Amino acid sequence: MGKVIEDVVIPAEGTWTRVMAPGEVLRIVDLEGKQAVDFLCYNAKNPEERYNAADTMKYAKTIFLTKGHGIYSDMGNKLFTIVDDTCGRHDTIGGCCSAESNEFRYGVKGTPGCRANFLKALAPYGLGKKDIVANLNWFMNVPVEPDGAMAIVDGVSKPGDHVDLRADMDVLAVISNCPQTRNPCNGWKPTPIRVVVSE
Ligand SMILES: [Zn+2]
Repeated sequence: MGKVIEDVVIPAEGTWTRVMAPGEVLRIVDLEGKQAVDFLCYNAKNPEERYNAADTMKYAKTIFLTKGHGIYSDMGNKLFTIVDDTCGRHDTIGGCCSAESNEFRYGVKGTPGCRANFLKALAPYGLGKKDIVANLNWFMNVPVEPDGAMAIVDGVSKPGDHVDLRADMDVLAVISNCPQTRNPCNGWKPTPIRVVVSE
């Protein structure tokens, strides 16, 4: 990695954003393991262009992204390239948690969630509900069975596992360190992550 320009620990339930220049690398470290990290990204110069899950999966020819795969926008442009991945299992289809979906799924009201986190993190950039799209989840394990069944199951990330994402254009990167406690996506106990940006 090049010169470090940001190195922070994001607590459980925390958020993080940064506008990154092409060539900069974002390392996300799952400090304690089994921690889902919800992730969105946008063209920083025109946020109407943003991550497109379906196109990213089609180009990768898999739902399981790892080293070498690109993260693509809805305009066919590469926002990031995954240049390192020590975990090997991330989610492209499960989306983010929210107070509303927690009430629907688990019958609990008023819980923290990644959707509220995304809204809080996007607000300073003038972005809101219309700008939240199906997101990526680093370190979240959502296998799909041959009959099409899918579920959020125990994560496989070990303490210290990381992904490195190289920006391929001017990007706005947005993280919600998932606060979910009602399914195994965070090992039932949300924990901190570390974010390192280098040149
Ligand atoms: Zn979440």
